[in-house]
Amino acid sequence: MKQRIGIMGGTFDPIHFGHLVTAQEVFERFALDSVIFMVAGKHPLKGDEVTDAHLRLQMVEIAIRDNPHFEVNDFEVQRDEVTYTIDTMRYLHQNYPPQTEFFFITGADALFDIIEWKDARELAGLTILVGATRPGYDIEKAKLRHECAGEHFDIRYLEVPALAVSSTDIRQRVRDGRDVRYLVTDGVAEFIKQHHLYQSIQGCCRYEREQKTPFEE
Ligand code: NAP
Repeated sequence: MKQRIGIMGGTFDPIHFGHLVTAQEVFERFALDSVIFMVAGKHPLKGDEVTDAHLRLQMVEIAIRDNPHFEVNDFEVQRDEVTYTIDTMRYLHQNYPPQTEFFFITGADALFDIIEWKDARELAGLTILVGATRPGYDIEKAKLRHECAGEHFDIRYLEVPALAVSSTDIRQRVRDGRDVRYLVTDGVAEFIKQHHLYQSIQGCCRYEREQKTPFEE
């Protein structure tokens, strides 16, 4: 039978309830069989600003462990080089039956520039795209940009009120010594505390300086 698989692509620094609600919404709305959280590894632009990929991966594992429809994939994290979405989609197509239908889910902000992504035309043929929007996001502007570009992307937009939460806001809250309860799962809040994440720029990078294997949970 033809499978329908969601790929939740993101940096997840850290994963929060907005991401989890988005994945669940898309799972239901598009009648998917499962959603794979694809944690971004090396970032082409962000470099050292991003928390170590293994720590971000562990937070995702903790956040999704209660949902049997969700899984995490470390393909991008294990690669030494920058991974573009086209690399990931090619990998997934090689590893799933030919009839599988993929839905690449990410923030609509991230999709705004998709026409400039690596091998965008090929990517358009490999996956349907789902752009999750925060309340107030100008969907029409995004649609116009994609139409004008003349590319043949199949982009579905989905407003997710829970995306009023952002990873940037959560990192800032931790730096300010504020509570992140109710924004991330309890397990993730505990992990952030245990590993002293987001307290300072140095705090974020401490893991990389000290060792190359993930911390014990
Ligand atoms: P980003 O620029 O950090 O995020 C843009 C916006 O989208 C932020 O508001 C972010 O909110 C939100 N967002 C990110 N992932 C989301 C998700 N899965 N669900 C809902 N909202 C999400 O984007 P990014 O994390 O670097 O990249 C997003 C995905 O696009 C990744 O899989 C990345 O590999 C891919 N990408 C590929 C290319 C390429 O192939 N050339 C270029 C850019 C991005 P939060 O900060 O709260 O998450």
